[in-house]
Amino acid sequence: EISLPTLVSWVTLFRDRIAAEQGRLTELDSAIGDADHGANMARGTAAAAAKLDETPPATVDALGKTVGMALVSTVGGASGPLYGTFFLRFGTQAAGAAALDGAALAAALRAGAEGVVARGKASAGDKTMLDAMLPAVEAFEADPSDPAAAASAAAGAARAGSDATEPLVARKGRASYLGERSAGHLDPGSVSTALLFEALAEALA
Ligand code: ADP
Ligand code: MG
Ligand code: MG
Repeated sequence: EISLPTLVSWVTLFRDRIAAEQGRLTELDSAIGDADHGANMARGTAAAAAKLDETPPATVDALGKTVGMALVSTVGGASGPLYGTFFLRFGTQAAGAAALDGAALAAALRAGAEGVVARGKASAGDKTMLDAMLPAVEAFEADPSDPAAAASAAAGAARAGSDATEPLVARKGRASYLGERSAGHLDPGSVSTALLFEALAEALA
C-alpha cells in the first residue's frame, strides 16, 4: 500500500530534484526553446509542495487536484497545463482512495499520461515529455505488484526515453519551430519527466 504521505513525498522530492537541476533544464530549453523550463518547473513544483503542506490532502484525488491546480496556475508555458493535467487525471483515476496498491498506482499513472496525450496531442517520437512518460508508465505496468521495483524500472525507462530524444526532430511545442535544427539536443520536458519518475522511485524505495 502506497500511503498519502508517500505520495506527498513524491511531490516534494520532485520539487527538490527540479530545484537541483533547474540550471540544466534552462540550458536545455535555451537550446531549442525560450530558456524558461527550469524556472517554470521550479516555480510550479515549489507552489505545489507548499499547497500540500498548507492543505494536507485526505484522498488521492484531493492531492491530484491540489498539485494539478498549483501547476496549471503557476508554471505557465506549455508544460504547466500538461503536468497539471497529469496530476488532475492521476487523482481522478483514484477518486476516493486514501492509499493505493501497485495496480491502482499503475492505473493512476496511465490515466495521467493519457491526459497529457489528450491535452497536447503529441505522440511517441515527437520529442516531448511523452517520450519519457509513456515508456515509464509502460515499465511500471509490467509488474506493479512490487511498486518499489516497478518505480525503479519506470525511472530507468523515463531516463532512457529522455536520452533518446536527442537526435529527434521536434514535432510539437516551441522546439518544432526550429525544424531540423531541433535535432542534437535533449527535450527539456522529457528531462523534467525523468526527474518526476526518479522522485517516484525515491519516494517508494
Ligand atoms: P514553453 O515551451 O511554453 O516555454 P516549457 O519550456 O515550460 O514551456 O515546456 C516545454 C516542454 O513542454 C517541451 O520540452 C516538451 O517536453 C513539452 N511539450 C510542449 N508541447 C507539448 C505537447 N503538445 N505535448 C507534450 N509535451 C509538450
Ligand atoms: Mg520554454
Ligand atoms: Mg515559455
